[in-house]
This record gives sequence, structure tokens and C-alpha cells, in this order.
Amino acid sequence: MESSLLSSELIRFVFILFGCFWRGFKPCLSSMLALARELRDIIGIGDQSVPVDARSFSNSYRVCDLARCQGMCCYDGVFLEAPEVEVVERIVEEERHRFDLWGIKFDSGGLELRRKSNGCVQTKTATRSFDYEDQAEMPTHFDPTTCVFRCSDGRCSLQRLSVVLGYDPWHFKPMGCWMHPLELNLVGKPTVSVSSGGMSLFSGSTQCGKVCQPGVSGYETFRNELNALSVVLDQDLSQAPGS
Ligand code: SF4
Repeated sequence: MESSLLSSELIRFVFILFGCFWRGFKPCLSSMLALARELRDIIGIGDQSVPVDARSFSNSYRVCDLARCQGMCCYDGVFLEAPEVEVVERIVEEERHRFDLWGIKFDSGGLELRRKSNGCVQTKTATRSFDYEDQAEMPTHFDPTTCVFRCSDGRCSLQRLSVVLGYDPWHFKPMGCWMHPLELNLVGKPTVSVSSGGMSLFSGSTQCGKVCQPGVSGYETFRNELNALSVVLDQDLSQAPGS
């Protein structure tokens, strides 16, 4: 009995070893959401509870119309945390043929370094110049540029790839992108809000972050974003107060 257990363990070990050689010791492509614990620690939340800004979520919003907004929220690309950089680098390396097929052209693997307003240099998705059509109603403080991962119809190629490979649509999408227009404010007392009540220079300027009528509450409009953020923060953010 003991020797048959030993031999089955040995066979399993040989299979794992073979798998490692076969994949060149590379782990499988991991999900951004699977990195939840790491992301929570990196952004400095740890085990803190983060309250939802009920005032901004009780305003009314509308899901953006991609044909109209043309994905203006992607104009400057997105800053990535270290585990996200690894995922994007692996995807670009392993799925390059699909990006080519979708007309996505990369220089430097689609990533670049940029100094942030706090002086730190961080990796982000690269950008290229882009002519938005008039109906996009681009805010004047947005540059006529776009993230290199944006498809010609405004869709995100990282989301498109997730779906094509049979995963959840946000599987490979960076956290800063799937959260939009929600904001995780970490200055002072942490809160989750919708574009700081419509006043933010970024989120509140994009169509999905604008308070509008007719519309539905932020809890309804951004249900998926709140559910995903609940996973990252390991707390339930989806319930409106009193519901
Ligand atoms: S990664 Fe995708 S969603 Fe994020 S900025 Fe680029 S194109 Fe937009």
C-alpha cells in the first residue's frame, strides 16, 4: 500500500516536472483578479475596511456608449502594479499573433515608464497619438492619444483576449481599468467613490463618471465593478445602505 502511494506520488512528480520543462518553467497566465491579495497589499489597504461613499453612489449614472465616447477613458493608458506588469508582459509574448490580428502594434512590448506626480517612476501601458471624432466630446485637458492596447473600435484588447480565451472579461484587464469610473481614495480615510462625486479631473470628465438624468444609482450602474472590488478588498461593497 505504502509503496503504491509512493509510486503514484513519484508519477505525479514526474508529470509536474515534465509540465515545467514543456512550458519552459513558466507558470500559466494568471488572472489580474487572482492577484487580489497582492494588489490589496501593494495599494496599501492591507486588512483595513474601506467604506463606500454613499453620497456619490446614490447619484444617477449611465453606462457609457462606446460608439459615442470612443473609449476616451483610455487616452492616457494606465499605470500598472508589479504583478500586473508581469501578466501583461507574458500576454504580449504568448499571444502576440492575436494582437497583430487585431491591428494592435507595440513598441517596447506595449509598456513604458513614466514619472508620476509624486516623483516615483512607474510602468504603465504605452500611448500613441489618436484622432477622436467630434462626437466624443473630449474634455480639453485630455490629450489626443490612446492606450496602445485599445482596438480601433474602442474596445480593450486585454478584455477581448480574456473573452477569446474563455475567461471572465476582466481576467487580464488591469485593476485601474476595470474599476473605472470608481475611485479608491487612499489619502486620509480610505473610501470608494464614483469619480469623487463627479468632480474628479479624470473619472468625472469621462461619460460613465458623469452624474446624469435619466440614469440609475451608482450601486446599480457599477454593480460588476463593486463586486470585483469586493473581491480585491475582501469585503462586501455591493449593498446600498438600508437595502
Ligand atoms: S488596458 Fe485596455 S482598458 Fe486599460 S487603458 Fe488600455 S485599452 Fe483602456
